[in-house]
Amino acid sequence: MFSYQNGIKIENTSLWLDAGMRVPSSVVSHAHLDHAKKHQRILATGPTLKLLAKRIGKTRSLKLEYRQPYTFDNCSVTLYPAGHVLGSAQVLVEKDGVRLLYSGDFNTTLSCAAEPIEIPESDILIMESTFGSERYRFPAREEVEKSLIAFVQHAFDAGAVPVVVGYVLGKSQEAMKILGDAGFKLSVHGSVAALARVYETCDVTFGDWRQYHRDETEGRVLIIPRVAIKSRMIKRLEKKQIVYLSGWAINPQVAERMAVDQALPLSDHADFDGLIEYATKVGAKKIYTTHGFKGFARELSVRGFNADLLSEANQLSLF
Ligand SMILES: [Zn+2]
Repeated sequence: MFSYQNGIKIENTSLWLDAGMRVPSSVVSHAHLDHAKKHQRILATGPTLKLLAKRIGKTRSLKLEYRQPYTFDNCSVTLYPAGHVLGSAQVLVEKDGVRLLYSGDFNTTLSCAAEPIEIPESDILIMESTFGSERYRFPAREEVEKSLIAFVQHAFDAGAVPVVVGYVLGKSQEAMKILGDAGFKLSVHGSVAALARVYETCDVTFGDWRQYHRDETEGRVLIIPRVAIKSRMIKRLEKKQIVYLSGWAINPQVAERMAVDQALPLSDHADFDGLIEYATKVGAKKIYTTHGFKGFARELSVRGFNADLLSEANQLSLF
């Protein structure tokens, strides 16, 4: 039904899913750049298209609504919310009576700045496995959110500027939402602000925030992408406390390696248990794993799933 070579190609159609190079037509599951290229035509949700226009520029596109089947060549394509970042989608392809689900990146835990995940059933599943190792079990999200709020309050109490570091798309807006809703005033890096404005056009609001200006940091939380940690914007702050948000923060060395005061495991991906829960709900007869720990297919196999690592080497055996 499909082949795999730097992206998923649906057989006997011209359709790709998250193609890793420019192709005539590809579904783009979400606007992170390891999944999105500037294809001749992009099929994606409205929010993803808006975010991509900011990130890689406008291109010919087709906007797909969640849950609305779309006929492409001789197959049907339906997107379902993936809970990862705003606009993120799982892709269900139906062809010759067989269903193939491609998960894209997903999160089974509810995020305050992404559509809640809806998991469809499928015959074949291709799933991400970013945190597909047993050591990645995240604390309850409310606990992580509380820890973030406590960190920021503690920094202010100590007379320091709280600085929150997260990925520019998704994590930063989630931090804006959590802290904005908690009543903190925010000052955000220009790259974060540009994407936050897209979120606002999709009815996600962030409280009292403005784009960073060096004379207006007093009493505000700074939210920046990782690349800005060593920038003058941060170096010039005399007293600051920096927190890094990432699922990788489960590893105890992360705070030290990132040279930050604290690292918190706020993730936009499912943790190990979330991945297993997802595979169970999809109920596929065959699972291929991609984008993550290579050993995750084995973890699935020992739990009774028929699973293999998706690779170019095994593409000839694929349905
Ligand atoms: Zn992603």
